[in-house]
Amino acid sequence: MTDLEPPPAAPEAENLTPRDISARRLERAMAYLDESARELFAFLRCPRRTITVYFPVQMDDGSVRTFEGHRVIHNRVLGPGKGGIRYHPDVDVEEVRFLAALMTWKCALIDIPFGGAKGGVACDTKALSRRELSGLTRRFITELGDNIGPHTDIPAPDLYTDAQTMAWIYDTYDTLHPGRNNRPVVTGKPLNLGGSLGRQEATARGVLNATERFLAGAPVPGVAGVEGARVAVQGFGDVGAVAARLFQEAGAKVLAVSDSAGGIYNAQGLDLEAAAAYKREHGTVVGLPETLTITNADLLELDCDILIPAAVANQIRGDNAARLQARMVVEAANGPVTPGADEILAARGILVVPDILANAGGVTVSYFEWVQNNENQQWDLAQVNAKLEARMYRAVDATLQRWRGLSQQTDPSAAQAPVDLRTAALVEAIERVVNVTQELGLWP
Ligand code: NAD
Repeated sequence: MTDLEPPPAAPEAENLTPRDISARRLERAMAYLDESARELFAFLRCPRRTITVYFPVQMDDGSVRTFEGHRVIHNRVLGPGKGGIRYHPDVDVEEVRFLAALMTWKCALIDIPFGGAKGGVACDTKALSRRELSGLTRRFITELGDNIGPHTDIPAPDLYTDAQTMAWIYDTYDTLHPGRNNRPVVTGKPLNLGGSLGRQEATARGVLNATERFLAGAPVPGVAGVEGARVAVQGFGDVGAVAARLFQEAGAKVLAVSDSAGGIYNAQGLDLEAAAAYKREHGTVVGLPETLTITNADLLELDCDILIPAAVANQIRGDNAARLQARMVVEAANGPVTPGADEILAARGILVVPDILANAGGVTVSYFEWVQNNENQQWDLAQVNAKLEARMYRAVDATLQRWRGLSQQTDPSAAQAPVDLRTAALVEAIERVVNVTQELGLWP
């Protein structure tokens, strides 16, 4: 866009390794917990188990390529591992560990009986055929063997994986373990295979639930509610495209959306159906008639009320956070705001609803799917959405209560940065995991 201010000189580069980001956030949250919790710091920081596999896949042209995949269980104190599998060229073991830890805190905060896990394969899905993707998925799951299972570790969709991928995962596992109900081994499945109504929209619906509840409980100056709010969404996939639609249905004006090729903007609000149709036809939203083409960087800095990053990590950083004009950021993606940006936004009074809360709707309905599969039931959509809303509201209320409590605890004369919502959410989640760890006792 031409009417945005020129960027100021970039400050010192942040250290953005997932390991450092995780450790820094955990340390900050642990400072608010008691001594007995702090004793568990290393246990809570380290993943319980990391599996890396290398496996060959025959490509359509007859050649053989070897892929690298990972599955990490970060913590199983609350239950079996739960977390998505992503396919992306940048997948590496450090990132998967970071995301697995996020899942631990997310499951604890939303109060479902799962631990944190995550998986991924380093690959570019856009360069793979459907047959190659099926082969890659089936071989990856075969390599993981009994390390996944309905009561050990339960995968789900994530970046560049979808219901079709989950169907292949189920079929592979079921072939290897015949004669029993294997449906709960994976969630986010197609409806015909035991998927839950509402799962596909659940993450985005949870983002809307969380935003509405926050705005009701912690007023943001100039933003009375979702209705009438001006919204920008980065990412137009399973989460971003649905979030844009749901916010629009709730009365917001969606000014801009984007995908990996760039973004589109219309000050009067976008025609999202047209954007989705255009993306289906052209592979990107960029070029939709009656819109202005913008970059992803422009989108993040747009003058809007609610900014929803729903694509990839590390998008709002120390070098662009000062230029954000949004009044509130809702992290639909995992890890889109860096610790450096957190500090700048907190100092500027811009509320960030953290990923472990904002995007917990997906894992919540994954849990509902798992329950339905175990009971051979299918709940109706209204029931799923009502249960989701109730859990999202409860988690938001617990986070807000914790935030207010910690804010009072902070000594302003100590020149501490204000406690942010992320720290409050983490403290709440960690305390739940610590309490159960202590109740179980360390064995032997
Ligand atoms: P997706 O693959 O369906 O969509 C990703 C979108 O991001 C696409 O529109 C893609 O073009 C865009 N994108 C990719 N790289 C980009 C870049 N560099 N800049 C801008 N846009 C880019 O993935 P998804 O399932 O919608 O997941 C999006 C985010 O939400 C991820 O961070 C994921 O971890 C998180 N998340 C997803 C779920 C879920 O249920 N799918 C649940 C919780 C969190």
